[in-house]
Amino acid sequence: MFVTGLRCFRCGAKYEMDPKAYTCPACSGNRGDEGILDVQYDYSAAKAMIHSTLHKNGRHDVFRFLPLLPTSKTIGVLPAGGTPLIPVSGLAARLGLQSLFLKDETRNPTRCLKDRATAVAVTMARAHGYRDLYCASAGNAAISLAGFCAHQGIGCHVFVPREISQTRLNWLRRYGADVHISTGNYDQAYDEAEQAGAENGWYSRNCAFNPFLVEGKKTVALEISEQLGWQVRDLIVAPVGDGCTLGAIGKGSRELNLVRLTDRIPRLIGVQSEAVQPLVKRYHGEAVREDGGTTQAESIAVRRPRNALRLLYEMRASHGHMLAVSDEQISAAQRLLAQEAGVVSEFTSAATLAGLFQLAESESLANQSAVLVITGGRLDCDF
Ligand SMILES: [Zn+2]
Repeated sequence: MFVTGLRCFRCGAKYEMDPKAYTCPACSGNRGDEGILDVQYDYSAAKAMIHSTLHKNGRHDVFRFLPLLPTSKTIGVLPAGGTPLIPVSGLAARLGLQSLFLKDETRNPTRCLKDRATAVAVTMARAHGYRDLYCASAGNAAISLAGFCAHQGIGCHVFVPREISQTRLNWLRRYGADVHISTGNYDQAYDEAEQAGAENGWYSRNCAFNPFLVEGKKTVALEISEQLGWQVRDLIVAPVGDGCTLGAIGKGSRELNLVRLTDRIPRLIGVQSEAVQPLVKRYHGEAVREDGGTTQAESIAVRRPRNALRLLYEMRASHGHMLAVSDEQISAAQRLLAQEAGVVSEFTSAATLAGLFQLAESESLANQSAVLVITGGRLDCDF
């Protein structure tokens, strides 16, 4: 393993590697941003290993990239990752792009990118003797955890907001999860989950709390680059809620550059809903930490984002852009993805295409290439 330690995004404090570490102790109790820890690696040592591993390694799941992960062992969890990258020339032409690809994360075991983080969480929990995991979620992370725990035969405790859809509840119950429906929104469910997790000694699958989960998510960026022959595309577009997914994509992209598999990093484009856009506002200089109306894009309706510092760091490092789109724009994009790309995405994931159309109105995308991360979409998702 090439992990050298953990570093706090807020205060910069460094800690020894501890598989049971969550947020920064020095920043606990502080109002405002949480002390999110970031996993640090010895990239010069990992470089040789990642090159040789990729050549001889027949794995196609997240553990293909083991030298850049915080575990040295695998335990046979459901295979997350190894999803297709689909060229969509018709949509590229509509946007004036040279090329456009969809990273189809609907092909994961529970049809969602979150499975990448869950694969790492369940692996680390089992390796350190835990028999129960928990998370707060608007639906997708909970469904992901429920599926992986069902496969492993271990306890799964999920905390969901009051407004969770019946479709998502049905998925959770099919997997046999212990479901706690909050009387409030996602942010309240998050606080309830953390309290129950601490009281019961369960392992956390909250991505903005447990620093090792982002490491699983970043494998989507590693995979995209490998599928493109390490030729970096100009833009990577993803929906933004807590900030974990796009932050992870930024980290993965930088790491590939550090181990000399790529010669540059892509520009990150983050998309939020017009109704709930605290990170768009903050990136553009407004001093907000909470924001919120109502939107059908419930997976990114995070009024108080917990991984803001990570996201903002990666956005600046990539000279990225944040924008917000309406539910009407997302709805039109969701239909286009199905009709012109053959991909059924969930509502939130279609925000990526809506965001790219909006970006094309403010700047020319000629001679540029882009990748949309279609983070999830179940066969029974609502259109
Ligand atoms: Zn700190």
